[in-house]
Amino acid sequence: MSFSYVSHLECPKCGSIYAHHKPNQLCQCGSPLLVNYDLEELKNENEIINKERNGLWRYHKLLPVIDPDHVVSLGEGMTPLLSMPALGEKLGIANLLMKDEGMIPTGSFKARGAAVGVSKARELGITRLAMPTNGNAGAAWSLYCARAGIKPYIVMPVDAPVITRKEVAISGAELFLVNGLISDAGKIVASLVKEEGFYDASTLKEPYRIEGKKTMGYEILEQCGSEPPDVILYPTGGGVGLIGIYKALKEFRELGLFKGSRLPRLVAVQAEGCAPIVKAWEEHKSESEFWENSETAAFGINVPKAIGDFLVLEALYETNGCAVAVSEDEISFTQRQTAELEGSFICPEGAAVFAAAKRLRENGWIKADEKVICLNTGQGIKYPDSVSVDPPVLEPGEIIRK
Ligand SMILES: *Cc1c(COP(=O)(O)O)cnc(C)c1O
Ligand SMILES: [Zn+2]
Repeated sequence: MSFSYVSHLECPKCGSIYAHHKPNQLCQCGSPLLVNYDLEELKNENEIINKERNGLWRYHKLLPVIDPDHVVSLGEGMTPLLSMPALGEKLGIANLLMKDEGMIPTGSFKARGAAVGVSKARELGITRLAMPTNGNAGAAWSLYCARAGIKPYIVMPVDAPVITRKEVAISGAELFLVNGLISDAGKIVASLVKEEGFYDASTLKEPYRIEGKKTMGYEILEQCGSEPPDVILYPTGGGVGLIGIYKALKEFRELGLFKGSRLPRLVAVQAEGCAPIVKAWEEHKSESEFWENSETAAFGINVPKAIGDFLVLEALYETNGCAVAVSEDEISFTQRQTAELEGSFICPEGAAVFAAAKRLRENGWIKADEKVICLNTGQGIKYPDSVSVDPPVLEPGEIIRK
């Protein structure tokens, strides 16, 4: 019995083919590479999903790691799909659901990409890797690398959430801060890769983290059974999760596991302070332009230019989706509203998604009876500074008068 039906890597731009059993990064044409599987062969299997496993490795046949001994797992995957009745009522969307990625090791969905990316790096015999990060990816990769015995070199902006610095540091990874943006961190990593020959684990420069992130799409379809959602909203930085979900939907459709008539409409949500994908979508472009002086408290989506932007835009066009930018005020208002109405302390990126759902309901793009899934990509408690509190301080024995 085969554990993985991985067949090869393919360039979505020029069609070049690469092997999956050797380290590969970008295509020679500069495009990210996507992983292909032998789906025709897999169709004949009577058990495509291993339902005995509760995490994302239940999809091992659709993941690129060949030898199960190379799997590095902290128990990631199969996060809850919660109904949000009170918030849904406020928004006028009766069937509003949240896929809660806060409930995952390291507190953000970056654990999915790290689990599969680090496992494949281990399989390829990689011992040192480097990556730029806005925080959560660096934290997840550092911790998974520690478990795999791989040495990571992490470069992040000084402004990235402080907790993610600590996650990197405690794992024993090499941490560097840069006075700048993730794009500046990326340039530093590129020269380190060039000088030292490290494996470049930057977003989409290694082909496997997207395979981890796509499992959100499989899980959504499994959890929805015969009623797949009409709309899925995703907070988009590098866009890997959105590209991954689109890939997952298509793979399940090809395998006969997608039960709907049309794929869900995918929505890329960004912050007004960094909205290159939204601008490109509004102008019907196939690629985005670098967003100057980007700024948002939703740090995970502060990506001024994504290398896979053309794949994100293709997923939006092909599913009749759209792209929306929300303000910082909408993000913080919605973060509080979600905690007050539903008991969920979501991250600012997740809050951006609910704020976008509200807008799209108001302008009629989302219909009242549609099934809408919002991705909350991380724990609110990873961003303690996103909430300010100033409670009264009592002396011992003091009485509270109402
Ligand atoms: C990285 C990140 C995102 C954006 O993910 P992409 O797949 O790179 O677009 C969204 N939310 C959080 C919390 C993140 O850490
Ligand atoms: Zn190519």
